[in-house]
Parts: sequence; C-alpha cells; structure tokens
Amino acid sequence: MRISIRTKIVCITLGILFLAIGANTLTSIYVFTKEYSVALETKGFAIAQDLKLQLERLLRLKIPIGDIVGFEEQCQDTVKKYPDISYAMIIDPGGKILFHSDPSRHGTLDKDPEILKAIQSGSSSIQKINRQDEKYYDVVVPILGSHKKPIAAARIGFPERIITEKSRELLIYSCGIGLVLLFSAVIISLMALSILVTNPLRKLVSVIQEIRDKGTELIHPLDITTRDEIGQLADTFGKMIRDLQKTTVSRDLLVKEVDERKQAEKAAEDANLAKSEFLANMSHEIRTPMNGVIGMIGLLLDTELSSEQRQFAETVRDSADSLLTVINDILDYSKVEAGKLELDILDFDLRSTMEDVADVLAVTAHRKDLELACLIHHDVPALVRGDPGRLRQVLINLANNAVKFTEKGEVILRASLDTEDETRAVVRFSVSDTGIGIPIDRMDRLFQSFSQVDASTTRRHGGTGLGLAISKKLAEIMGGEIGVESQEGRGSTFWFTADLGKQPRREMDAGDPEDICEKYILVVDDNETNRLIFREQLTFWGCRIEEAESAMQALVMLRQALADSDPFDIAIVDMQMPEMDGEALGRQIKADPDLKDTLMVMLSSMGQRGDASRMRQIGFAAYLTKPVRQSHLYDCLVSVTGRKARAEAASTKPIVTRHSLSEEQKHGIRILIAEDNVVNQKVALNILNKFGYRADAVANGAEAVESIRMVSYNMVLMDVQMPVMDGFTATREIRNLDAGIRHVPIIAMTAHAMKGDRERCLEAGMDDYLSKPIDPQKLLEKIERWAAPVEQATQPAGRAEGAKSDALAESPGRVPMDLAEATARAMGDRTFLGNILQEFLKRAPDHVASMKVALSQGDAEALKQHAHTLKGSAANLSAGDVSAAASRLEAMGRAGDLSAGEAGIADLEGRLFRLSAYVDGIDWVADVEP
Ligand code: ADP
Repeated sequence: MRISIRTKIVCITLGILFLAIGANTLTSIYVFTKEYSVALETKGFAIAQDLKLQLERLLRLKIPIGDIVGFEEQCQDTVKKYPDISYAMIIDPGGKILFHSDPSRHGTLDKDPEILKAIQSGSSSIQKINRQDEKYYDVVVPILGSHKKPIAAARIGFPERIITEKSRELLIYSCGIGLVLLFSAVIISLMALSILVTNPLRKLVSVIQEIRDKGTELIHPLDITTRDEIGQLADTFGKMIRDLQKTTVSRDLLVKEVDERKQAEKAAEDANLAKSEFLANMSHEIRTPMNGVIGMIGLLLDTELSSEQRQFAETVRDSADSLLTVINDILDYSKVEAGKLELDILDFDLRSTMEDVADVLAVTAHRKDLELACLIHHDVPALVRGDPGRLRQVLINLANNAVKFTEKGEVILRASLDTEDETRAVVRFSVSDTGIGIPIDRMDRLFQSFSQVDASTTRRHGGTGLGLAISKKLAEIMGGEIGVESQEGRGSTFWFTADLGKQPRREMDAGDPEDICEKYILVVDDNETNRLIFREQLTFWGCRIEEAESAMQALVMLRQALADSDPFDIAIVDMQMPEMDGEALGRQIKADPDLKDTLMVMLSSMGQRGDASRMRQIGFAAYLTKPVRQSHLYDCLVSVTGRKARAEAASTKPIVTRHSLSEEQKHGIRILIAEDNVVNQKVALNILNKFGYRADAVANGAEAVESIRMVSYNMVLMDVQMPVMDGFTATREIRNLDAGIRHVPIIAMTAHAMKGDRERCLEAGMDDYLSKPIDPQKLLEKIERWAAPVEQATQPAGRAEGAKSDALAESPGRVPMDLAEATARAMGDRTFLGNILQEFLKRAPDHVASMKVALSQGDAEALKQHAHTLKGSAANLSAGDVSAAASRLEAMGRAGDLSAGEAGIADLEGRLFRLSAYVDGIDWVADVEP
C-alpha cells in the first residue's frame, strides 16, 4: 500500500497532539481532585466557623440550647448559604446532637465512635465515608471554648459526587478544547506541508519526468527558493541538470564525431581494400614479366658469354632479385595491412627448414667471410605443423639483416624450445650477429614500418624498412612475439617465438643413432660456435667427441689418443683455420703412418669446383659444405663409417658430398610441366634441370592429360590459365584417369597470389599450390614434399635393373627384406613398421587374385596395374624380393606378353610367403634386431 508523505506526517502530528492533550487532561483532573478535597476541608472549616458563631452567641446568653427557638433556624440559615453540602451538625462532647441540618436522611451519623473521639480530643479531621450507596467527604471541626477546651464539634458532609461531576465537566471541556486543537493542527500542518514539502517535491518530480520524456534540452529552471533541505535538494538538482545538459551537448558532439569517424574508417577500409586489390593486381602484372626477366637471365648466364657480358648479366640478375624482394615485401605488407595474410598450415620438418635458410644465406655470408652456423637444440621437435613458408620468411629476413649489418665475425641461427605440451610447442628462434649493433634509443622504432636506424641518404645499406615490420606481424600471426637485444658496435640478437603444432606421429629423431653411436670423433675448428653445434649434434647421436681449436692441437690429440689405445674413429676438419688449414692437416694425418687410418671429413665454407676431387686425393672420405645440415652430416658419417670396412681395399672409393647424397635421391623423379607461356616453360624446365630432376613440358591441359596417360610422371606442375583446356579441367580429367590406380600429385602454378586461389585449386583436385614467379627454393620444397613418396615407391623399380636388386631377387636364401633401410624410412619407429608390413601382407593376396583374373582374361593392362601397385608398396617397405617379382610381372603386362605370367605369379606368391614368415618372426614391439 502506498501512503503519501503528507498522510504520514499528518498522522504522526495527530498522534503526538492526541497523546499530549490526553496526558494534559488526565493530569488536570488528578490535580483538580486533589485540590478540591483540600478546598472542601477549608470550606468545612468556614462553615464550622459560622456554626460556632451561632453557638457562641447562645453560650454568651447562657441560654440552654434547647430553649432557644431561633437556634435551629439560625443554623439552618447558615447551612443554606452552602448549597453543595449534604449535611451539617453540631455535636457536643457527650455525643448529643445540638443541631442537624437533615436528620431525616443522615440521622444515624451520631452513632459514630470515631467522630466522638475526634470531638473529645479537639482535633479536626477529614475522611471519606460511604452512606446509602454514596460517598461523602466527612469534615469534623472542633468548636473550642475558653482555654481552648472543646465545647462541641461541627460535622459537615460533602458528597463526593460534586468532585466527579466537576471532573467530568473538566474532561468534557478538555476534550472539546483538544478536538479544536487537533483540528487546527491538522489544517495547519497540511497547509504547511503543502507549502514547504509536497509542492516543491511535486515540482521536482514533474521536472524529472520531463527529463525522462524529452531529455535535458527543454528543461526550464526550477522555481524552488526555500532555504531548507528541499531548497538544497532543488539547488543540487538544478546543478545536476545543468551538468547533464553540458554532457548531453558534449555527448551529442561525440556521437557526431564517432559517426564521422566511422564513415572515415569505412572510407579508409574501402580505400585499403582497393589498395590491396590494386597491389595484388600490380604484383601479378609485375611478377609475370619479372619471371621472364629472371628466368631468361638464368638461361643467359648458362650460355657462352664474355667476361664483361657475364658481369653485366650477373648485375642484371642481382638487381632483378632485389627488385623481386622489394615487390614481395610490399605485397606482403599490403596483405598484412588489409588483414588478408593467412597462415598456410602444413606438416613440415623444422630442422630442414632452418637448415634451408642457412643454406640460402651461406653464399652471401661466405662472400663476406662470415661464419654462418645453425644450432637447433635437440629438444626442439622436428616434425611440426605450421606455416613453413612464413617461418622461413621471418628467419631469412632476420638472417639477411644480420649478414647485411655484419662485417666481421659470425651469424648464428638458433632454435630452442620455450614451452611445450602434448600437442603444441612454442619454439624460440634467434639470429645473433657480431655486427654494428643498434643504439638503445632506436630499438623501440625498429619494428615499425619504413623505419631504419640510419635513415640518412648517405647510409651504406639500402632497404625499405619493411622487413622487421612484416616479421613482427608474421610472428604475431604465428602466435608469438618478436624482440631484439643489441649492443652498439658489438652485435645484435633478434629473436621471435612461434606457437607450432606437433605432428601426431612420433617426431623424427635425427636418425637411427645406433649406426654411429659410440664413435669417437675429433672436431677440429677454430670457431667455438661451430664446435658447439657439432658437440650438440654428435653427443645427441651417442658419439664421444673431443674438440681441437687448431690443427696443431688436433695432431697432438690424435697421437695422444693413439698412445692411450683409444684412437679417434673420425676427424671432422674445418678447412679455414689460421696457421695450418684443414687441407694441410689432412695431408699431415695421411702422411703419418700411425694416423693414416683415421677417417677424415672436410668441412668448408665455400665449395668450389674441383675441391671434392682434390680432397679425395688427399685422403678425405667426405667433403661437406657449411652450414652442414644435420641430416647430411648424419648420412655422411653413416656412409663413411659403413663403407670403411667394405671399401678398405678399394683405392678408388667415391667421395661422399652433399650433392651426391641428394642426387641419388633425386634420381628417378620425373616431372611434367603444363604451361602455355614459352618463357615460363623454359624457366621452370631450367630450374628443374638445375636441381637434377627430369622434366618435360606441354603447352595445355589436354596435352597434359595425354602425357599422363602415356608416362608415369611423379608429379605435375599445372598452370591454371591455358588455352584448349585449362588447369582445373585437366586436373579433373587426370583424377578420373588415375582413380583407383595411382595418385599423381598436381601442383598448381598461378600468378594470382590472392586468398581463395588455393581453395579453388584444391577443390579441382590439385594437391598444392605455388605462386608465380616460381621461387626455386619453394619449388624444391614442393617437389620434396609431394614427389618423395612416389619416388621411394618407384625408385626400386629403377634399381631392379641394377645389381643390388637383382642380387636380392636371385638369392632365395637371403632375408626377404632390408630391415635397416625400412626402419630408417619409418623414421626408426619399429612398431609402425611392423603394423604397416602386416597391413601390406593382408592386402597383397587381393592383388595377386586380381592378377590371376587378369591373366585368365588376357588383360595385360590390369595385370600391369596390379603388379605396379604391389611393386611400389613392396619397394617402399624395402621388401626387394617381392618388389622384384612384381616388377617382372609389370614388365610382362607392359609388353603385352603374358606367356610367363603363371610362373611369375607363382614366384611372387612364394616370395610373399617367405616375407610373411620373416615378418612374423620379428618382435616389432621390442626394439631388438632379429
Ligand atoms: P630493411 O628491409 O630496410 O632492412 P628492416 O625492417 O629489415 O628493413 O630493418 C630496419 C632497420 O633495422 C635496418 O635498416 C637497420 O638499420 C636495422 N637493423 C635490422 N637488423 C639489424 C642488425 N642485425 N644489426 C643492425 N641493425 C639492424
């Protein structure tokens, strides 16, 4: 229930008044009663005095009372003067009543002994008595004679009723007055409340409602001028409204400003979009001719040129390279600005990505005589998931800067593990140099776009100042951050982190450590960082390692080890060392009859033509170029130690070089290029040939489909826009063709470098995407990624013609598979290998059955296909026995001569049986060689 303040205040006031008036009335009645009884006594005395006078007059005349006729009347007259008395008597000390004003009603009073006692004692008294249902105040006053001797007493009775009546009267009057007072109080308080409280409050309320309805603009000022609390409230409220009016005005301004800003932002966004589209188009338009320029210069440089022409052509190539870098930077930057830069998440090998970067930079670093090293801590997971391209880009950016700004000393690329959990790892990459360093006051601006430490026009090093800004954005997109520590004149360390996923299958270790485990290796290098890298890698593989800082120290250590009957197995020797270089050390070792059996590996910063043969002559078993990839070093060491025993006698053992290691793997990969632009065709062919791959080119999609039908290519590089049949259609046709038989990896090549292209290519059935102009390094990555599995599958087919496979095939007593090779290919995961072998053995009978059907129907093509599949899988598992038999059947199918088919299939079945028995005999869980 809502009760207004007015009602509440009126009720409270009335309540208080009511209480006050009630209390006052009761008090008055009480006091009146008290006072009145005293007054009665006084009155009693007065009457007694009057009666005494009558009596004294009588006594003076010495007339006996009874004889005076007039006494009675005299007394009655006296009594009548006091109308409110009930009775009056004169009593002598003997108790005899001398006078009684009303004997008929109060005759029995004389018998009261108390009264007699009072008369005799001569003292006055007042007491209440009950008579005939009525209460009286009974006053006795002595009448004293000579010598104060009581001669009689006057007794007067007043009815108590008089007081009650008087009190009632008083009460009625009081209530009447109270009511009048209350009524006036209500009226007055109502009026006062209205004037002082309710009206101002109403005004306030109506203003508040007005604000709510219309806002603060139209509010007229409050006319409340009282100086009390409400006045204060109104004052404060008025101020508040004025403030509100002010803020409303500024808010409106703000809203307007925000609107304007939004419009401006929208316009800027549109402009940005237009800008990035323009840049993308421009980059397309620039890249296409650049592709021609760079490619043609490459071809030109391969031709016979005079030294002057060569110099010119090389300058053109360098300039074109720089121009392309700038264009790429600008495109990247525009993508970053437009928020269009997205990561292309792939599974990749972190180690080889880093080593690739080191490879790319090696040439420039060595040209400047800088040591370049790459140190990957072994707790960094190798098989990760992320964007290798972007990671490479940041690393190359930082490393390029490091090389650019360092004149002397070293540049070191490092990767270490920051944090990791089951599925992810945060890896910290750093690039340290011993270059010019960066002044402290310039560090904070470094990562802003277009900023350079030395912005003067006379600066020595060029650059757009975009590299670090892009690197920062890329690091952030990769879930990490970027930073720098530097000391002017001493060098800088740029670092960044990246949050990478881990590939679900067990990560690859650097290989099967058993092969070179326990080998005792001496590393001879004057550069401490390089020695540190070797120590990291070799110790991880289980080798024992010692370090020598110089050739002289190395000789001492080699001899000491021999004397201790614990000779070194291998000496890894750096070429460039002060005093005595690696070559001289090699000659000394070989010249020493005690040391000459030490295996020697030469490391050089600059591989030059003819180096390998010279090193072989000196007696080096292997020759590697720095920075050495971990995998190359491993392969090299395994190769030289493994070969030692076998080739001890052979004087002409081939020297293992990085080139020959990869060359062997590339052998047998055949790539088809579908591209209508002749220049682009030539460029791509040239790149592939340079890398050592076999490649053919066709001019449109239709020709590509035809070629795939005829030749089993390992990979197709497919242009998207082509006459006759475009890349998408051709891909679909090829996919129809190879359904169920074999999947040829198709990599799209397009000059459209924008988002969405990749999706369209993948939708059409392509496997990957490469943007033009073709970056040789990226092309190589794609080939390694896509062609490798097929290569492994087809490689043994090629080898089947060679001595090794033939030997395998023709000697049934041998083990039916090369377990070591298969384990290495399974990245050392024997459980995985066991499972996959079982899987293969389960499926093989189906293929054999299909072959039998094909044979009975004379279907040479079907026989060929099934044999081909079986051959590939067997080769991939290093089951040379089975693979060779399948290969023979495939050849039969290809030649269309099925006469020896039955014998061939029987042979295959026998070999499958042997393989199955062999596989069953191995405990794949326990890591033990059978
Ligand atoms: P640019 O593409 O011009 O090299 P960056 O953003 O990569 O631009 O680098 C910006 C500037 O930062 C460089 O011009 C240079 O002044 C400074 N800088 C970058 N890396 C190094 C380094 N390793 N040592 C010294 N200065 C460096």
